[in-house]
Amino acid sequence: MTQPCPTPSEIERAIRTIPDFPKPGIQFKDITPVLANARLFAGSIELLAGGLKPGMVDAVVGIDARGFIFAAAVAIKLQAGFVPVRKKGKLPFRTHEQEYDLEYGKGIVAVHVDALKPGSRVLLVDDLLATGGTAMAAAALVQRLGARILEISFLIELGFLHGREKLKDFPVKSLVVY
Ligand code: AMP
Repeated sequence: MTQPCPTPSEIERAIRTIPDFPKPGIQFKDITPVLANARLFAGSIELLAGGLKPGMVDAVVGIDARGFIFAAAVAIKLQAGFVPVRKKGKLPFRTHEQEYDLEYGKGIVAVHVDALKPGSRVLLVDDLLATGGTAMAAAALVQRLGARILEISFLIELGFLHGREKLKDFPVKSLVVY
């Protein structure tokens, strides 16, 4: 018999907060204990896919790097393709790039120019929503390819950073909010 799906609060209890990593002042949310627990990992994939069923999305787009872990598993569950949005310089073929603001300076994410067909239906997945800059840049890349974002899903949202406001044009879902 299969075990019942975990609740978001069970997932929350497994998330480990590491103070001052990778630099002073950051409370880093470590999701590795969730991944290491078969039931919590499978349950988080179930919850991230939410009400979506196979046939409803064409591709799940994951954001470099922890987003890949969740997005790839969600893609298999939804019988959809997986598309990586990576940090600049990592993808081998021609890319579109999008700049976004970091706490200090700028980041750049990239996607292959042929990664998504125009009109395709996309679920965008990352591990964590902080200021929303990374997800907004990834969403802009998806739109530049002519694809349509059905939803953006996160395992964790740092609500006090108001990243959701930056993503207000999209349905946003998060499982655990701090
Ligand atoms: P942001 O662009 O500010 O929304 O930052 C989101 C990205 O940075 C995600 O890809 C996260 O993996 C990572 N990130 C930001 N803050 C944290 C944190 N406190 N703990 C773990 N990852 C974080």
